[in-house]
Amino acid sequence: MKTPLLVSDFLRRGRTVYRDAPAVVCGSERLTYGQVADRVDRFSNALRALGVGHGDVVAYLSFNCHRLLEAYYAVPQLGAILLPINIRLTPPDIAYILNDSAASTVVIDRQLVALYAPIASSLPKVKNVVFMGGDPKADLPFSGHDYETLVKEAPAQFAPPAIDEDDVAELFYTSGTTARPKGVMLTHRNLVTHAYSSIACAHVGDTDVILHSIPLFHVNGWGTPHTLTMVGGKHVMVPRFDPEHVLEIVEREGVTKIFMVPTMAVALVNSPSWKARDLSALTKVMFGGAATPPALVRALDERLPHALIHCGYGLSETSPILTTAMPKASVHKDRSSSFSSRLTAGVPLPGVEVEIMDESGQPLPHDGVSVGEICARGNTVFAGYWKQPEETSRYIVDGWFHTGDMGSIDDQGYVSIVDRKKDIIITGGENVASIEIEKAIYDHPSVLECAVIGVPDDKWGEAPAAIIVLKPGATLDVAELIEHARGKLAHFKVPKHVKFVEVLPKGGTGKILKRELRESYKKDLQTATAR
Ligand code: ADP
Repeated sequence: MKTPLLVSDFLRRGRTVYRDAPAVVCGSERLTYGQVADRVDRFSNALRALGVGHGDVVAYLSFNCHRLLEAYYAVPQLGAILLPINIRLTPPDIAYILNDSAASTVVIDRQLVALYAPIASSLPKVKNVVFMGGDPKADLPFSGHDYETLVKEAPAQFAPPAIDEDDVAELFYTSGTTARPKGVMLTHRNLVTHAYSSIACAHVGDTDVILHSIPLFHVNGWGTPHTLTMVGGKHVMVPRFDPEHVLEIVEREGVTKIFMVPTMAVALVNSPSWKARDLSALTKVMFGGAATPPALVRALDERLPHALIHCGYGLSETSPILTTAMPKASVHKDRSSSFSSRLTAGVPLPGVEVEIMDESGQPLPHDGVSVGEICARGNTVFAGYWKQPEETSRYIVDGWFHTGDMGSIDDQGYVSIVDRKKDIIITGGENVASIEIEKAIYDHPSVLECAVIGVPDDKWGEAPAAIIVLKPGATLDVAELIEHARGKLAHFKVPKHVKFVEVLPKGGTGKILKRELRESYKKDLQTATAR
């Protein structure tokens, strides 16, 4: 027998099996699975009454909140496409995405109207605006429906339409390297197989409580809106990653699992209540999205001796998790001998194939040494870029998706990321991974955050430049930093330029934006030449 793999399946089960169990905590709101399922059906009916149907795009501008979690079900069960937009983008970027995707409906948190007000008149395709959250009595610069009124007044019974498992369910725009951001199309089949595969590795169950530290506007919320719902666990929402607030909530709600980009954990480890809070419920911390400094994993291992701290790797185009350093029981058993394997990107999820390939597309040996472009294939790999078939065929070649990341694979299948192709620094003809230099710098106790980029150099072509934020009250000068780096790195990898700054530019997920750093460095150099 074959039945379509549909995202709506997860909540359909949750509504019955976990009806009275806590589904989501969001500020002062607490909802059970029964209540969430009821609200979702009503909102789907409301959207249908507004004319939203199969293939229509429904965009969200929202912090993490229970209504955005509801969107993960209310929109796709209509056959429509959910488009959560990164709220750290500028209004013109948001207008580009709304026009490119031809979104017919935009659901906006009232606290974010300032992002939408300047572009409201330049979106000819948008037919419906819905407001949610914030102060319902607030005076707004444009009109729209109220989410809660729509939910309250819509009929409770939802009649699902026919949906194909290959229909697009979610759309996420990546920042991209070219001028045009690309919409990554994830189908029901992609998302369901991703949930099955990740649950097989993540050991998530109905006693789990996951804090959504990763924004739900970032690629499928790393899969947690589906995996946790599928097994009836408790979702905990925080609107933004404020480390003190996060620690308080981890303690109060008994959070068991948390997913972070490394910069979030840096903030946690350096926040005043890091040592004081009861974090004993935590069983797992997974890092992803960017290279994790070993010093950070060491700090978490010490503070959370009962929890498993490990890395994972993925991209928007792979729904997103491709590999995780968690699945083997041996990894749990012995924390110190598993330290280096937990720091790798891990092994592929079941159902996913990962290879490293040379420039001609030939697979390289899994010897832990050969470095090539990481390529993937499987049911979790996206359907293509929205309305950009040429870009799709640039990245999916001969049935393999080319990630743009360089890495190696060892004989047990552990993938190690060397660097993004475009972040590798070519200095004096040698390839140097920015990540390797960053890891060495992070080992210095005064360093809070750092990023290494390649900058033009007359003699070497490119030279590594380190941009560093120090811990509050710490001191470090260039000479001392260079000496530290020399003790850890080959001579040609030691940064030729060092700049101390107050903050590093970050994207919506908290990842450091090297693109922006390169731009501002270019400007610095131009100003210096003009002088
Ligand atoms: P972007 O960060 O370019 O906006 P994504 O959010 O899809 O796009 O992030 C995917 C990228 O994040 C990967 O291509 C890779 O460069 C980086 N990444 C993800 N996980 C890891 C990891 N564990 N180590 C190093 N880099 C990672």
